[in-house]
Amino acid sequence: MSVALIIAAKGNDVTTTQPHRTMQEATALLAEKKIGAVIVTGDDGGVLGILSERDIVRAVGLHGCGVLQDPVSKYMTGRVVTTSMDESIDQVMEQMTAGRFRHLPVIKEGRLAGVISIGDVVKHRLDGLESEHRAMREYIATA
Ligand code: AMP
Repeated sequence: MSVALIIAAKGNDVTTTQPHRTMQEATALLAEKKIGAVIVTGDDGGVLGILSERDIVRAVGLHGCGVLQDPVSKYMTGRVVTTSMDESIDQVMEQMTAGRFRHLPVIKEGRLAGVISIGDVVKHRLDGLESEHRAMREYIATA
């Protein structure tokens, strides 16, 4: 089972922002799209960072609501771990567990081609278990 399978199911739409955008704008984007993180990209579309709801909560908690007027670049994580279409879901889970994050941008031919969240991984796992159980029930019923 690979990353490509999840991207094929959910699509390769990625919500992005730019480093000069304010934290307020990024927060509004997360709320509007009902997502937990935005990928920060440069003019050429390259990945410069990731800003998740945790970064926003941490910034507000430590420095107050004034941070909402600051640029995203100040609080984003700059060293982004990415994955590729041919990586396995098990590898993705390992990366998320080891890095303690819940989002992985997918890079294809040097370009952003999607994002996998922990929610996608859990859904994929549950769907797999469901088909396994169905196959098992059918096997038992016809045996
Ligand atoms: P999350 O669990 O995804 O909300 O993120 C927790 C922390 O990890 C935040 O500081 C994020 O900026 C950071 N983070 C999220 N995803 C990644 C990633 N793929 N690579 C590096 N850092 C990340």
